[in-house]
Amino acid sequence: MSRRKKGKRTGNAPEHSPPGGPACPICSSPDGKAVSGETSCFYRCRRCGIVFNSAYRPLRYDERYFLDDYRSQYGKTYAEDRDAIRRLADARLKKIFALRGRGSKRGNMNLLDLGSALGFFMESAKDAGVGRVYGVEISKYACDWCRRETGFRVVNTPFERTAFDETFDIITAWYFIEHCEFPRETMQRIYALLNPGGIFAFSCPSIFGPQFLFDRRTWSESHPQDHRIDFSPCSVKRILKRMGFSTVIVRAAGVHPDRVVPRVSPFYRPFSLFYGWLAPLLRFSDTIEVYARK
Ligand SMILES: [Zn+2]
Repeated sequence: MSRRKKGKRTGNAPEHSPPGGPACPICSSPDGKAVSGETSCFYRCRRCGIVFNSAYRPLRYDERYFLDDYRSQYGKTYAEDRDAIRRLADARLKKIFALRGRGSKRGNMNLLDLGSALGFFMESAKDAGVGRVYGVEISKYACDWCRRETGFRVVNTPFERTAFDETFDIITAWYFIEHCEFPRETMQRIYALLNPGGIFAFSCPSIFGPQFLFDRRTWSESHPQDHRIDFSPCSVKRILKRMGFSTVIVRAAGVHPDRVVPRVSPFYRPFSLFYGWLAPLLRFSDTIEVYARK
């Protein structure tokens, strides 16, 4: 779902690791290094470069998630934030179509949105001319809302247990992958469900950003317990290429100079100009968008 980045915090729950440490959910290596102190539940995999949460617990994504939790983070409910989410969706669709290239008629294409929330991205895709759009949403509240308000076809089952009778030209997953307990299997299934030349586009948290690198304590304390993994631009590119994707483009999803230099600082203004130029270039951000072609 769009802009989903909440949940109970994981903090520094003590972890009793098996000998060799917990296995990486992407490459299965037991050779992870604790990232924030001896008692951390977060490990950085030495082999594939991701950070994973060994104290992962899934949450219930009920009505509260889309109303109170979202409001406490963004100042309005998810439904009230529709215009902003639609603008973001339109920009993401442009990037998807650019990577897809000419020669494929949008009206003939189908799109599957994983964690489709209230269906705003699906609305944008439909308005942009995509022939058929479908959603998978684990929250019954969101699924019912979407069916009622938009009429789109959305199934209320976990993606891992959803059966499909077709393959797709575009699969999107905005802030979804990090919530999956078995992210490697999820991404492999997405790859298998894509048609040749199909696009997988998603967003996720990144450890190559100011919070993880400069404010590790806040990162650790505010890390949602229902986030299993954190990528970096390099690790996600390598992992997707190894899975078989031919082209992988990673972009910084948010540029926040205030997370490095406080707004009250006299250096903030010149720094923010410099940062606004450099951060997108380096893909330096607490969140990233990934566009991959099969
Ligand atoms: Zn790994």
